Amino acid sequence: MIPSSLHFFKPLTDIPSLSIEKAHGIYLYTKEGKKIIDAASGAVVVNIGQGREELAEIALEQIRNLNYIFPLWTSKPLEDLVKRLSSWFSQTYRFYFTTGGAESVESALRFTFLYQAMENKPWKNKILSRYTSYHGTTLGALSASGNFLRRKNLEHCLFDWPKIPPPYCYRCPWSKTYPSCGIACAEVLEELLNEETAKSIAGFIAEPIIGASGGAIVPVDEYWPKVAEICKKHELLLIIDEVMTGFGRTGKRFAFEHWKLEPDIIVCAKGLSSGYSPMGMIAVKEELVQKCEQKAKSFMFYTYTSNPLGCTVANKVLEIIESERLIEHSNRIGAFLGESLKKALSDHPLVGDIRGKGLFWGVEIVRNKQTKEPFDPKEGCLGKIITSALELGVFFYPCQGMVDGVSGEALLVCPPFTVTEAEIINIVDVLKESLDRLKQALAMT
Ligand code: PMP
Repeated sequence: MIPSSLHFFKPLTDIPSLSIEKAHGIYLYTKEGKKIIDAASGAVVVNIGQGREELAEIALEQIRNLNYIFPLWTSKPLEDLVKRLSSWFSQTYRFYFTTGGAESVESALRFTFLYQAMENKPWKNKILSRYTSYHGTTLGALSASGNFLRRKNLEHCLFDWPKIPPPYCYRCPWSKTYPSCGIACAEVLEELLNEETAKSIAGFIAEPIIGASGGAIVPVDEYWPKVAEICKKHELLLIIDEVMTGFGRTGKRFAFEHWKLEPDIIVCAKGLSSGYSPMGMIAVKEELVQKCEQKAKSFMFYTYTSNPLGCTVANKVLEIIESERLIEHSNRIGAFLGESLKKALSDHPLVGDIRGKGLFWGVEIVRNKQTKEPFDPKEGCLGKIITSALELGVFFYPCQGMVDGVSGEALLVCPPFTVTEAEIINIVDVLKESLDRLKQALAMT
């Protein structure tokens, strides 16, 4: 436990705070010597697993050689990373580097507004997004986020930007069923954009598969192609937030590849450096940058952009993913994880839905399986499951805020790509046991 005498901002949640001393592969070791499987990869970050010697060596060498450059200059680590990244995308993108997800989202929003202004459309000054979404905690990113719990107490300071419902079949906002629904969640975008007020929208930002506030909500196959077409028709830049899903997490290099999208801007962080250095980036379509560049002299300017240590680390992380064929592995082992979760938990009375792709799976918990009634967050049931699981030696990522104004809760199961079948069996057993414990506790109350 973290001592209360330690004066730093501790999150006030019902998730136990642990003091972690070291980590290796998919395992965390607490100060008290407890060994825990990290089935959340931290905050869905550590895709290649912890404690890689080759990263320690390369980081040390980089710090010895060059630890910082003026933001407008270049260096070998930056050049090597850009060259490698170019081969990760099938189109030509221009990259800009930051230190994390929110900073990258801010950069994407900033580019979008700048682009529209350079196109002589300065009235396009709003960003459209979805409820049940999370894009970061800075004020622009939070304004685009539709998770009411994470916006709480700050609403009055945020931009008043429009939002549409998410593609969330398990709780369809129109109470329709696929495929007779006509993909109402995509059609609503067209309806909104036909209104006069929608002329002010510069871009649409969304997670390809909803993570932190949804628990791996995967849209139906028709959703993304339809949304992309509508954005194009109305001249909105399509910003895909791959902060959680990028770099192999969902079994492809990027989740948008599941639907063959060609986003205008792609936002990444987390898996880019696997947590070995704070790192984020945006990839912007080359033709958009060129158009903009002719008129606007300078784009973004963060002190830590293109940080040599971050670039070296990210380059090595991507090299490891390539050489160890970790995306292929995550795809294979992810299918096993999905099947195991469904086999063990589909009939569980507290499990409403199990969904996901690759090594990115969500288990939504409910009070009533028939009515889909969610737990009241005040009951702390999600925290109870996570606490039991930690006692049993596994950490899961908590997701809250799926149902607007009501909450709705899920756990993300997303271990590092190096996880084995035996470890997955253990992870699923622990989740079942933790749910059983809550079921027993609820029966007693
Ligand atoms: N976008 C998405 C999709 C995220 O999941 C997150 C963080 N969970 C962010 C943006 C913000 O990233 P960061 O916490 O690194 O600022």
